[in-house]
Amino acid sequence: MKDRLPDLARARVLITNDDGVNAPGLKLLERVIRPLVREVWVVAPETEQSAAGHSLTLRRPLRLRKISGRRFAVDGTPTDCVLLGVKKVLEDRPPDLVLSGINRGGNLGEDVTYSGTIAAAMEATLLGFPAVALSQVSDDRRAVKWATAEHWFGPVLDSLSAHSWPPNVFINVNFPDVPARSVKGIEITRQGQRKISGDLKEGVDPRGETFYWIGTQRFLEDPRRRGTDLNAVKRGAISITPLTLDLTHGATVRALRKGPP
Ligand code: MN
Repeated sequence: MKDRLPDLARARVLITNDDGVNAPGLKLLERVIRPLVREVWVVAPETEQSAAGHSLTLRRPLRLRKISGRRFAVDGTPTDCVLLGVKKVLEDRPPDLVLSGINRGGNLGEDVTYSGTIAAAMEATLLGFPAVALSQVSDDRRAVKWATAEHWFGPVLDSLSAHSWPPNVFINVNFPDVPARSVKGIEITRQGQRKISGDLKEGVDPRGETFYWIGTQRFLEDPRRRGTDLNAVKRGAISITPLTLDLTHGATVRALRKGPP
């Protein structure tokens, strides 16, 4: 166990997201982290990259646009942003901490496999830096309760800074969709499970060609399973889930190694 949050007052922090460089959640993250650390650097996608997953742009060149002193935009994915942030923008001295978010909408259960927010934290972890992904759960995209994430960001960081975790682990934080004063504390959780039933729209474009459009994802979850991220936010608690990059399922490895029964 060696990775832990650095001494924040002296830290150089790289922040990114998957909602794009102009997203309100990124601006909020900048605002809440800035007073706590020495330096904040932003390297974020030019346009929204939600559900981009851990994709890397390989088949075209990337452009890095300097917006102001410590703010940059990349015409690529969140993973591209972390890579360019570390290898180019901060090439003189690497970051002490990478934060991703604050995402508009939760990253719960199997969401983490689609999420660009989570992928940015994964990339930072692969490059060897402590990383935290942050998301504000919301049922209504037009009325996100940002004040909840804003109010509880400090306590969440405090609860993490007392601990350390192995180098292939990163932290997934979800703020529940309730007003800040109604939050039922901070819980350490497991990744939950929910079956995704996607709404697939079919139509005909102006040229007469059929198209398909992946719409709202409906989630059939079992909120009774205690101890999961889904259960915590459903009850109005903040969920903190340590995730690991190793997707191996140990019990199945052991069973298969035993050979046929
Ligand atoms: Mn997003």
